[in-house]
Amino acid sequence: MNLADITTVKSILSQPQKIVIVPHKNPDGDAMGACLGLCLFLKEMGQTAHVISPNDYPKFLKWMPGNDEVINFEWENQEAKKLLDEATVIFTLDFNELSRTGQMESVLKEREVDFIMIDHHQQPGDYAKVTYSDVSMSSTCEMVYNFIGYLGYVDSITSDIATNLYTGIMTDTGSFKYRSTSSNTHRVVADLIDKGADNMEIHQQVFDTNSPSRLHLLGVALSNMVILPEYKTAYITLTQAELDQHDFKKGDTEGFVNYGLTLEGIIFALIFIENKDEGIIKISLRSVGDFSVNQFAREHFSGGGHDNAAGGKSDLPMKETIERFNEILKTYKSELNP
Ligand code: 5GP
Ligand code: MN
Repeated sequence: MNLADITTVKSILSQPQKIVIVPHKNPDGDAMGACLGLCLFLKEMGQTAHVISPNDYPKFLKWMPGNDEVINFEWENQEAKKLLDEATVIFTLDFNELSRTGQMESVLKEREVDFIMIDHHQQPGDYAKVTYSDVSMSSTCEMVYNFIGYLGYVDSITSDIATNLYTGIMTDTGSFKYRSTSSNTHRVVADLIDKGADNMEIHQQVFDTNSPSRLHLLGVALSNMVILPEYKTAYITLTQAELDQHDFKKGDTEGFVNYGLTLEGIIFALIFIENKDEGIIKISLRSVGDFSVNQFAREHFSGGGHDNAAGGKSDLPMKETIERFNEILKTYKSELNP
């Protein structure tokens, strides 16, 4: 964030504001951690602040400090719209195009108030008065920590704020192992532990609350995996019927896509998950090294994200989606075999 932006934010926050904080649709640990961490910080500053999520999120995030006050735009639509109507400032966290909020997009577009974006995805849109965008960052939570620092309030980070920010950094870095994890990420995390984030407890809350049905679904996913050594690619499919048979709950497939990358020689992994309600196949893409899944998702599957982790969708049925994917993959043979 440059000096002019810091001055702008300081000036905005020097007045009492009615603030709404929004994560992307299907928020993950980073999106929720950033929103809840920032919300608790703004309340510490004496501001009025609310988190409105476009839709529901996984149970393994519902223990986070401040979670009970999150408003779900789908389920509490009137209350959410009222807060958005009254808002004087809107923060958008962990995304950079309003379309990433799904149904909320049209409401957000109408609001003529100051937007502040904090985000680490590529190619940010230009809707915000203040755009704090940095694709080199491990997570939006690391940026929220920096943001609080730029305002001069690192000492005001409470253990609840620290817990939220730690959670998001942990989930977005694959527990501090992805390429974007810097020495500075570790310095931030160390300070968050000093400020009261209980690292062992947070890991347990997020990763050790499996249900038997989720583990059985993982078994199905792994046996469905198709490995294409000539393309250094592995992909998983899960149909709606398979999800239904295993009592699928939001978040149950989190992390499944990464198993493909644990195979020796595989650098591109995907999971295709059927969603009959939305009439789409949701796709998660991961890579190691220089192959950009952000570009792949953007060009072929109406998506985007980061170089090594992206998402997208297909409007075709599963069989046709996979056929189309296999055709597209042929054109990447040399890129995947540099
Ligand atoms: P995931 O595969 O875990 O859903 O998402 C991986 C990354 O890609 C995340 O950073 C997420 O924000 C981004 N992402 C997921 N789905 C989409 C999408 O449909 N469009 C865009 N632009 N980004 C996405
Ligand atoms: Mn993120």
